[in-house]
Amino acid sequence: MKTITHPFSLASLLALALLLAPRPGLSQDPPRFDRSVRSAGNLEPAIPRPKQDAQVAARLQALAKKTGRQPNIVWLIVDDMGYGDPGCYGGGAVAGAATPNMDRLAREGLKLTSCYAQQTCTPTRSTILTGRLPVRTGLTRPILAGDKITRNPWADEVSLPTLLGKAGYASLLVGKWHVGEAEGMRPQDIGFDEFYGYYPAQKEISQRVDQRRFPNLILDKNRFAAFEGMGMGHSLVHGWKDGKTEDVRSVESTEDMARADQALADFTVERIKQLAKGDKPFFLEHCFMKVHCDNFANPDLEGMSASKYPYKDAVAEVDLHIGSIVRALEEAGVLENTFVFVTSDNGPQMDAWPDAGYTPFRGAKGTTFEGGVRVPGIAYWKGMIAPGRQSDELFDLVDLFGTALTLAGVAPDQLAGDRYYDFVDQASFLFHDEGHSRREAVYFWWGRELMACRMHEYKLHVKVILPQVTHMYIDHATVQDVGLAPWFFNLYLDPKEEMTVGHRLDPWLASVGSKLKAHGATFRKYPPKDVGL
Ligand code: CA
Repeated sequence: MKTITHPFSLASLLALALLLAPRPGLSQDPPRFDRSVRSAGNLEPAIPRPKQDAQVAARLQALAKKTGRQPNIVWLIVDDMGYGDPGCYGGGAVAGAATPNMDRLAREGLKLTSCYAQQTCTPTRSTILTGRLPVRTGLTRPILAGDKITRNPWADEVSLPTLLGKAGYASLLVGKWHVGEAEGMRPQDIGFDEFYGYYPAQKEISQRVDQRRFPNLILDKNRFAAFEGMGMGHSLVHGWKDGKTEDVRSVESTEDMARADQALADFTVERIKQLAKGDKPFFLEHCFMKVHCDNFANPDLEGMSASKYPYKDAVAEVDLHIGSIVRALEEAGVLENTFVFVTSDNGPQMDAWPDAGYTPFRGAKGTTFEGGVRVPGIAYWKGMIAPGRQSDELFDLVDLFGTALTLAGVAPDQLAGDRYYDFVDQASFLFHDEGHSRREAVYFWWGRELMACRMHEYKLHVKVILPQVTHMYIDHATVQDVGLAPWFFNLYLDPKEEMTVGHRLDPWLASVGSKLKAHGATFRKYPPKDVGL
């Protein structure tokens, strides 16, 4: 098992910072800059909010008494959508792709403006289902064609659908998976009752049918045969928990790819009708194929965006399906007993521009600057989340795991005690009319490198990813150590992370540095897993 050395090599740097700054954490007197408290050695510290916790617990109990069951949980996850794409985040019509459905959910729910994903697909998707950061599970980067991993990371993880299943939930994942397609790693193998979707990302599928973009693959018979031999899935797959798995149909043209999200949305809408009539609460994770490159406009909706570009049509189409899915919940009579969360798994992939989204922040997918990790986060629950709420307090998508456990009535003591969990239960933040976040810090990793930490409006970087060619954040970038002082940004003054405030201009550098160091120290007792990625 590899060890992570970097977090501890910061000691000298941080020691210097500690000498130069006041030490508010050592004061006897509250309030403290770091308000969090660790309730167990293997759980992420959280800010105590006993009053709002108790009030929300009472509301949830009252609702369960009324409905006779636990609430449904529906996650709508868009692939690679930028923070600045939805209208409610400053995009929408002004960026040539109106998003009336996302805008309405934000208006009638809670809009989070400091909601964080991991910086690429597989890490975010595995994190929200394990409650653990990618570096802990070994799922540190996207699994691509030809990747050979050395062990099944899921073999000893306890997934959210498994825990919810034990609590009486039906579970279903529709759409993109991207967390392993070998037997033992598929959604139907790791706890979901049913899977209907595609294992890889759009481009991984469409490259074998897109002669315009990949002539050197498709027009070379030998090379194409070699590619096919790698066994990357390119079919719509239907799988069930008992292991039965069948190919529904193969993607044989870019038009097939273009129609994928319509078919997935239709499936989800039908399933909602059935699940709503069933005797179990349900957990539905609907993962769109769009708006990950390469986007092909659905022929039935082509040109639906004002922009007319395929990426923008994809944003508009996804928004349309979000509207259909929420309407299906309403028509099935379960909207008032369903927690809906809309988000994106990472920032826009600028390497694919113009088939890419927009972020107002520095960086993009693949970096731990805000552009890579800050994503839209819309929490909607009719009757439970007060309309018109907005919060800039911290939310990490891993918190969806802990929040789901609370909704299902799964107590933290039912989790395995031999591993570290990174989630914070945010039920009382999301569902209290004046809720405050229980998360004090967000940690940013890139593969096995601890890169940065955000606390309050401050973000400290000890390593950075810098494109060597403008906007090439994945395909032409380097990872670099910072110099003597960490790069330290006040995100309220400087949301683009361009003007470091360093140790001269701000007293909190050492406090954020200590938090990052304490996070790194959790790996001493709970070593990371290496699966060969
Ligand atoms: Ca993604």
